[in-house]
Order: sequence, then C-alpha cells, then structure tokens
Amino acid sequence: MLLKAERNEIATFGRKLISAGLTTGTGGNLSLFNRPENLIAISPSGIEYCDMQPEDIVILDLAGKVVEGRLKPSSELNFHLALYNRRPDIHAVVHTHSIYATTIACLNLEIPAVHYLVGFAGKKVPVAPYAAFGTPKLAANITRAIEDYNAVLLANHGLVAVGPAMTKAFSVAEQVEIVARIYYQACCIGDPVILPDKEMETVIRKFETYGQ
Ligand code: 13P
Ligand code: ZN
Repeated sequence: MLLKAERNEIATFGRKLISAGLTTGTGGNLSLFNRPENLIAISPSGIEYCDMQPEDIVILDLAGKVVEGRLKPSSELNFHLALYNRRPDIHAVVHTHSIYATTIACLNLEIPAVHYLVGFAGKKVPVAPYAAFGTPKLAANITRAIEDYNAVLLANHGLVAVGPAMTKAFSVAEQVEIVARIYYQACCIGDPVILPDKEMETVIRKFETYGQ
C-alpha cells in the first residue's frame, strides 16, 4: 500500500476535525503531499470521518490521476492540487466548515489582526471570492487570494489552512477558528482594536522560536 504513514495521518486528523469541533458530517477534507515520492494522499469524498479507514484514502499524482484507491477522491481535489503546485512550502492542506470562520466568510470579510494568534495565518486571514465547491474557479480564487498566508476564508463556504506538515496546518485551522470567534464576539459588543502590521511582523517572528 502506497503512503501508509500519510493514510494513517489523514484518518487520524479527520477524526480530530470532528472532536475539535472544526467541521460536521462529511464537510471539509484533508490531504498530504509527499514531495520526494511526488504523490498526494487525500480524504475520500462524502465519507464520515469516524468511519474513514487508512485504506479509504486516495493516492494521486500531481496531475490528479488516481494511482491507488477504490473510492472517489475529495470533490475539492482541484484546490488541493493547485495549492501544492503553487506553493513549494506546503505539504498539508486542511479544509473545514468551522462555524465562526465560516460566519465571517459568509459576510465575505477578512479576519483582521484582532488578536495576535491570527499570526498563525499571517498578518490577517484573507478571503477568496465565492465559487461553487469543487470547481476549478474556486481553486483559482483560493490560490490567488492565499498569496503567502497560511489560511484563507472561502466566501460563503469555509476555511482552508495549509502548512509544512499536518500538525501545523491543523493548528492553523484551530487558531483561526478561535480568532474568528473572538472577532465575532468583539464586534457584538464594540469596535475591536486591530493590531498594526508592524506588531504582527514582530509576533510572526516570535512564533518562529516559540515553544521547545
Ligand atoms: P468532500 O466530501 O468531497 O471532500 O467535500 C466536502 C466539502 O467540504 C466540499 O467543499
Ligand atoms: Zn467545503
């Protein structure tokens, strides 16, 4: 079986999407790109995360041709491929319909630097214009909007987070959801104070050496 470690990681993190409250039902999807092997592992379309097994994960090449797998790959294959093609630093993509991030996305707004944790994504979280799920147009909108950020809101849809590994991309999705909730709540009771770009540059630099 190809990409065994990646298959396991996608099945594990799919369950975490549900337990962390970042998506419901079969919403969202995950993938990993093994660049040395030039192969992508992606979650299958429309399968409940609690039922998803490593053998259900679909393996494809960078052109989107299925190399191994008996199920249909995620309907969002287009944007996963487009992101790996566009950004050599990306090895993991996590797509969620998390409630607060999606709420902001339904207003077609960006998430500004209302809290320093937005630094997981960059100085803000940009928003990609709406296009129907699974379309090449949505993939083009996402790759255009994401620039060098680690996350992008999808208008009237959800969130995409990226990273050099699944743990990182997942953390970005988790932290963006927290900041989206804070932004929503702060707007409910006043006008949130937004951190200046210069301060966010300091925060992003500090993140590079944060932790052990
Ligand atoms: P898939 O089940 O096909 O991955 O689609 C879920 C989704 O979130 C579409 O945007
Ligand atoms: Zn979706």
